[in-house]
Amino acid sequence: MVIDKKILLVDDSAFMRKVLRDIFESAGYTNFVEAGNGTEAMEKYKSEKPDYIFLDVIMPDVNGMDVLRIIGREAKIIIVSAVGQKEIIEQAKSLGALDYIVKPFDRDQVLEKVQKYFDK
Ligand SMILES: [Mg+2]
Repeated sequence: MVIDKKILLVDDSAFMRKVLRDIFESAGYTNFVEAGNGTEAMEKYKSEKPDYIFLDVIMPDVNGMDVLRIIGREAKIIIVSAVGQKEIIEQAKSLGALDYIVKPFDRDQVLEKVQKYFDK
């Protein structure tokens, strides 16, 4: 099955972007854009118009919470972060994040979010 929903993967770790990409590819997704920091993420959001964004929090320059403050209300964003404090998760959701995945995650956790939010 080929799914053409466009996913923007934002993480300062190229390895983490690849891990997420491999998970989505294994589920049939084929259309990806990547960004390594918050500034790039917002540029790609504007130019590529992704359907969904998976967004890291801790990144150089503009971090994930700053990205949420700017586009969290209009973009469909799921946070993927090692930061797991309840207050941060609540803050992210109040800024418009659909959901929050804490690293380390497994494949099923990510695909569960895909089923919950994608195709809607
Ligand atoms: Mg990071």
